[in-house]
Amino acid sequence: MSHRCDDCEEKFETLTSLRLHDCPEADDEDDWEQEREEHLRQIRKLEREENEAAKRAASTELTDAIEGTETGDDTAVYELLAHYERHLTEVYLYRRQGNSPCV
Ligand SMILES: [Zn+2]
Repeated sequence: MSHRCDDCEEKFETLTSLRLHDCPEADDEDDWEQEREEHLRQIRKLEREENEAAKRAASTELTDAIEGTETGDDTAVYELLAHYERHLTEVYLYRRQGNSPCV
């Protein structure tokens, strides 16, 4: 008589082959879990890299001013805006001169 696996319902002629087989469905689930984990890891890595790139792209004048606003320094807000506006103007003029958009 044949032996049927309770999990995947595959039939085997011998008990040994039943014991040795890997249920295909369970394997798929494992792979899926692993792929999902790997995918989430990739997303977290990209998010980290993006955050770091954004911080690097901001000039220290800006990041210092932002930190100033966090400590309750009122003038830091205006300094921050001034730096920001100056930066926008610089980029604007740079592009007006026919340079590529990447500064
Ligand atoms: Zn099975």
